[in-house]
Amino acid sequence: MRSVSLFGATGSIGEQTVELLLRAGGAEAFGVVALTGGRNLARLADMARALRAEIAVCAEPSDLAELRARLAGSGIEAAAGPDAIAEAADRPADWVMSAIVGAAGLVPGFRALRHGATLALANKESLVTAGPLLMAEAARHGARILPVDSEHSAIFQALVGEDIAAVERIILTASGGALRDWPLEALAKATVAEALAHPNWAMGQRITIDSASMFNKALEVIETREFFGVAPDQIEVIVHPESLIHSMVGFRDGAIMAHLGAPDMRHSIGYALNWPERAELPVARLDLAQIATLSFRAPDLQRYPALRLAREVMARRGLAGAAFTAAKEVALDHFLAGEIGFMDMSAVVETVLEGLNRDFGTNSAIMTLEDVQGMDHLARMRAGEIARARAGER
Ligand code: NAD
Ligand code: MG
Repeated sequence: MRSVSLFGATGSIGEQTVELLLRAGGAEAFGVVALTGGRNLARLADMARALRAEIAVCAEPSDLAELRARLAGSGIEAAAGPDAIAEAADRPADWVMSAIVGAAGLVPGFRALRHGATLALANKESLVTAGPLLMAEAARHGARILPVDSEHSAIFQALVGEDIAAVERIILTASGGALRDWPLEALAKATVAEALAHPNWAMGQRITIDSASMFNKALEVIETREFFGVAPDQIEVIVHPESLIHSMVGFRDGAIMAHLGAPDMRHSIGYALNWPERAELPVARLDLAQIATLSFRAPDLQRYPALRLAREVMARRGLAGAAFTAAKEVALDHFLAGEIGFMDMSAVVETVLEGLNRDFGTNSAIMTLEDVQGMDHLARMRAGEIARARAGER
């Protein structure tokens, strides 16, 4: 019986993973080790009971008593706080889902690699902030990372049986997000609700805003570079409003392999869960005659400055990815709070990146987990100052 742990079980990716586990037999088919969540304790406890987990861990230490009470009589252990989440990742499991959102997902994923787990990686921030570290840790322990981001799952599938040396380019598709048809001048005034109206995918709130700004695609470009080891100039982005092609790989003989499917994350999650096999999944089948057309357009870099910034991050490497991710998260917090405008998010991140060498002294390519966390902390402070200054100007 395979043992599994889920980090970020109560989120959008986590819920869909739980659904697939239950569909595949739940506690009868899997030995569920750890489930972690944020503050939705009722849902976390329900899931832990349904899957008969060994331990449930919530993010806030002050929530421990309530989590314990909700698990009373079940025999399931309860724990709380970032250290407890990291310790839960030290418990061996064959398959581990990394689906905490943001920088908090790095440490548990990293620690799960140490016992040689297959890490299903939804937390793209891990690769953007600490790609070289994560890949080296996986290699050292004979662990495997399987991408869960739909684009990277598509690329991974297009590469089955292929030699990476034969790859000429990787083409990431982007929906363009909720504001893709807005006039450029109107973007500065876009509200949170407007940026949340994603045309194709139902996702967590933060990643939906990141789709509208293409910060999500920017992270994915860097994620592609780190995971597949291709050069930055081999990675292209194309706007594909239908979101039916999840990404493509172009080979040196001119062939392009595209991965198509319904826009449904259960496909990528299920692929990672069943790999290297394919199992039946509850996703809609495409009716191509009904779809009739697929369309494409080049991304406008004025509309999406985040894509330009991703190139800069890849050129700098080292800790630039950690600074980029942290600054983006803070800028997003300020946008969600209504304090800065939609286009201010990229301006804040750009200012943090510009100040990188000057403010932070070093941009060393040698990194440890502590270096990454140090840069995360500094970039958050700097982004906060810049965002507050911009908020004051409004
Ligand atoms: P979400 O916000 O719906 O869920 C995040 C999960 O992490 C929840 O369980 C939440 O409680 C937990 N969490 C949040 N902050 C935490 C903290 N500080 N400590 C511990 N736990 C914390 O997010 P999501 O949309 O499921 O995305 C999860 C990850 O997957 C992100 O990295 C995202 O970029 C990536 N991803 C998501 C999708 C999608 O369709 N939702 C697609 C591709 C990639
Ligand atoms: Mg994606």
